[in-house]
Amino acid sequence: MVERTLVLIKPDAIEKRIAGNIIDRFERLGLTIVGAKVVQLTDELARKHYQHLADKPFINGVIRYMMGEYNHIHNHKIYAFVFQGENAISLVRQALGATNPEKADPWTIRGTFGRIAFDEMLNCAHASGSIEDAKREIELWFSPNEVLDA
Ligand code: ADP
Repeated sequence: MVERTLVLIKPDAIEKRIAGNIIDRFERLGLTIVGAKVVQLTDELARKHYQHLADKPFINGVIRYMMGEYNHIHNHKIYAFVFQGENAISLVRQALGATNPEKADPWTIRGTFGRIAFDEMLNCAHASGSIEDAKREIELWFSPNEVLDA
């Protein structure tokens, strides 16, 4: 099934200038970029995005990470993409690897570039986990006229 998925390039990947490498891996899966922008993240948007983690003890650390506090990103910059293609959601998640970069397969994005520091999983990128999540997340990060047909 042709799907769309939200990809966020997180502050550790922005600081390391590896956004291109990450996007390259997704393009090589045959997926097409149908939305792309630089976003100035707000606390409100970060908390809406991670609403499923609101009750977790580590949520404030995750928000600090996304706001760029651990990576010298002073303008709260995040790169947001929508990728489209056959089985896009599971293909992108496989390429990304496990949430914990120390448990991710070494050849995945998180296994290659992620690390644990400041008690946080600095894992480079986010990608939607399901069709429902993708719909909610794309609507949260993009207005309809910012996402094109492939
Ligand atoms: P994923 O990003 O793989 O979809 P989650 O939605 O569960 O995983 O978590 C969102 C983000 O919160 C992770 O990418 C990671 O940065 C952080 N996180 C998740 N679990 C933990 C944890 N146990 N301790 C610290 N940070 C975590």
